[in-house]
Amino acid sequence: MPGFEFIIHQKSVSCTSCDKVFATPVNQALPDMSKKTPVEADLHRVLPHGAVRASMVAICPFCQYSWWASTFAGHFTLPVGIPQAPAIDQARKFAHAVFTGRKNNYHVLDRAMLALNGYWCAQECHDQTDKWLALAIQELTAALADQNWTGNRARYHYILAELLRRQGEFAAACKEFDLVDESANLPAELVNKQKQLASTHERHPVLLTNAEVEKIFFPVLQIDPLPEIFRLTTELDMQDMDETALSQSESLSISRQSMPMSAPLPIEPLPARKSKISLAPATRATPAAPTAPASPWREVQTAPTTRR
Ligand SMILES: [Zn+2]
Repeated sequence: MPGFEFIIHQKSVSCTSCDKVFATPVNQALPDMSKKTPVEADLHRVLPHGAVRASMVAICPFCQYSWWASTFAGHFTLPVGIPQAPAIDQARKFAHAVFTGRKNNYHVLDRAMLALNGYWCAQECHDQTDKWLALAIQELTAALADQNWTGNRARYHYILAELLRRQGEFAAACKEFDLVDESANLPAELVNKQKQLASTHERHPVLLTNAEVEKIFFPVLQIDPLPEIFRLTTELDMQDMDETALSQSESLSISRQSMPMSAPLPIEPLPARKSKISLAPATRATPAAPTAPASPWREVQTAPTTRR
């Protein structure tokens, strides 16, 4: 039901900062992504209207504290006849949230994600995007300058590069594209293609192809093959089995057959290998700032992993 995929409704919440109760629009849930979901080259999913993205942020009408709506505690009061979140331009909600983040010294990466969503929201509202793009670049640059968090930094360098290309800062964009390595888990062809656009001074928006969306958002997990010695041990076990004994004793058969999988390996386990797929959210090695309520932005940008 394409017409009913995005449902915004009013919800009563209590403010994280002043505890007062108010009603704010929230989005029920974003529909799952598929490889046909429109995604731009800066890796954001294109939503049908800015109101959908804006409903991810709530602003308290009493103290103006603004943050991801999902981090406000729900309240049992019906969202009728109670104070409402202030009605302001959709994208401006993200500016308020960035301001709250700065005021409370919340993590730079959270602020950067809010600023990025403000830029994308302005696009979806068909508003002027210049100031939003500048804010997103400013916050993301600050986030990447902070070495106190770990995560897929290469991917954020890619996003910053793409923002700089869109802003017309082509030399700076190329420098950022050069900082994108394979740890970004992005197709090399895509990175090269976008860098090529920057070097030829092209700043138009680019939609990812279905194949690119599939590669980035639905990566095929590579299962490591059995270690050679384990395979040999398993084969030897099977050869050693006495066929007659097996046929005479079903329980023995079960235990022998299951042994290779359940018994401890006769060798030391191999050290865990670094997964080739890393969609884990950024983690903060040493939180340099007070912990802000967890943000749901990754659900918007990269999280959906279920295929329709
Ligand atoms: Zn408040």
